[in-house]
Amino acid sequence: MKNNLICVLIGAPGAGKGTQAKNVANHFKCKLISTGDILRENVENKTVLGLEAKKYIDNGNLAPAQIVVSMIKNVIKSSIEKKDASDNNFLFDGFPRDLEQNKLFEQILAQLNLSIKAVIYINIEDDVVYERLTNRRVCPKCNRVYHLKFNPPKFDNLCDDCKVALITREDDKIDVIKKRLEVYKQLTEPLIEYYRKKNKVIEINGNKDAEEVLKDIISGINCAKQ
Ligand code: AMP
Repeated sequence: MKNNLICVLIGAPGAGKGTQAKNVANHFKCKLISTGDILRENVENKTVLGLEAKKYIDNGNLAPAQIVVSMIKNVIKSSIEKKDASDNNFLFDGFPRDLEQNKLFEQILAQLNLSIKAVIYINIEDDVVYERLTNRRVCPKCNRVYHLKFNPPKFDNLCDDCKVALITREDDKIDVIKKRLEVYKQLTEPLIEYYRKKNKVIEINGNKDAEEVLKDIISGINCAKQ
C-alpha cells in the first residue's frame, strides 16, 4: 500500500465540512473532492447528471449511489492521470455518504492501491445545524458562503466580491434541512461506527468557531499520519 494521505470528512449538514475542507486540503496539499459541489455544478450547467441529481438534492435525499460513485471514480482517475493531486493525496467532502457508497469506494481505492488514512467526523448538535443552515446565504456566482448573523455581507444581501444578490440554497429550506438530517442519521452515521471499529475516526467538536475546528482537524490528521 502506498503512503498517501486519503482523508474523508463526515458530519451532519451544516457541520462546516465545506468551509473546513478547503483549508484542510490547502494545508495538507490534498486534491479536494466535494460531491455536493460537483453535483451542484452539474445542476447549474443542466447536464444529464445534474438534471437527474436535482430531483434528489432538492428533496434532501441522496443522489443514487451509481451516479455518485462513477462520478467519483472518474474524478480520481483523471486527477491521477493529470497528476493534479500531489502524491495522490485526496480529501473527500461529503463522500462516501452511506455504507453502499463506501463499499464501492473501498473497491476503487484498493484497485488503485490506495487506502483511507483518517475519517474526520465533525460532530455538531441538531439545533446548531438549524441555526447555521437557516441563516446561510451563498453567492450564486462565486459560491462564497455567508451567515446572516456571524458572517454577514458588508452591503445588504450582496456578495462582497461579486456584488451579486445572495441566495438561499434550495436545500437550506427548513423542511429540506429536516429531511437531510434524517437521511444523515439513518444512512451516514452507520459509516462513523464502521470506521470507529477500524480505529480511523478523528472526532472533532464542530460547535466551536471555525478557526479552532480547523486547528483540531489539522492536529488530528498529523497524529493519524504518524
Ligand atoms: P452537501 O453539500 O454535501 O450537503 O450535499 C448536498 C446534497 O447533494 C445532498 O443533500 C445530496 O442530495 C447530494 N449529495 C452530496 N454528496 C452526495 C453523495 N456522496 N451521495 C449522494 N448524494 C450526495
